[in-house]
Amino acid sequence: MVDESQARKLIIEIGKLLYERSYVVSSDGNISCRLDENRILATPTMTCKGRMTEDGLAITDLDGKALNDKKASSELALHLLIYKMRPDINAVCHAHPPHGTAFSVAGLAIDAPILSEVILTLGCVPLTAYGTPSTNELTESMKPFIAHHNALLMANHGAVAYGEDLWQAFDRLETLEHTAKIAILSRALGGANDLPKDAIEKLINIREKAGYLSESARCQSCGYLHETDIRCGLDGNSVNKPNSNGAKISLSREELIDLLNQAVGSQS
Ligand SMILES: [Zn+2]
Repeated sequence: MVDESQARKLIIEIGKLLYERSYVVSSDGNISCRLDENRILATPTMTCKGRMTEDGLAITDLDGKALNDKKASSELALHLLIYKMRPDINAVCHAHPPHGTAFSVAGLAIDAPILSEVILTLGCVPLTAYGTPSTNELTESMKPFIAHHNALLMANHGAVAYGEDLWQAFDRLETLEHTAKIAILSRALGGANDLPKDAIEKLINIREKAGYLSESARCQSCGYLHETDIRCGLDGNSVNKPNSNGAKISLSREELIDLLNQAVGSQS
């Protein structure tokens, strides 16, 4: 249960950030969060995300039925699909950040193992097939990936990221965009060096132990695994299964840095 006035403030703040950071222009993009089990607070249609007001936000149920007098974004269906498939997710940010969107226009996933912290936290970002915005085509093409990833690229359209709360959804979108930007810049400098195979394996083991991403994230589209001995063990039943070692382990920042140093130190 989220405080509604706090959620309204945060959506306005994140809308401004999306606009100021050029992740959206004009009336692009949309943001939403769960207010409770059956109510979603969402940005309104045809409004610049940099100029929204707290009283202008729409409220709908999980089927998109309006619960106040504001009309929600026409792309709300993709948010609702994510909420229905992922009970752990409480906020969704969709935008057209230029570097991430350039990957989607070029037909590329963001899945090269170039940054250790991105492998640990966000994981790879798959590219889902093109679908006309605000139609079933779009949501159908995203369906197979939602359970295993926390951010997706939509071909020739943009990006969506989601999290436990609004800041986590925004942060994931920002990490996606930052990673895409670094990948493009490194290509301009002569090409990116991938992390070595054994370093990738260690990072994937750490992220599963720490509970950042479960084994289900080693799915059909995980580009990190191509060079490693780790295999995707995904079958239809393994979605949302806990880690093989059972409970989540939480690491302090120091412990994490220590593990990272061990993982990355072995390559030099
Ligand atoms: Zn869009």
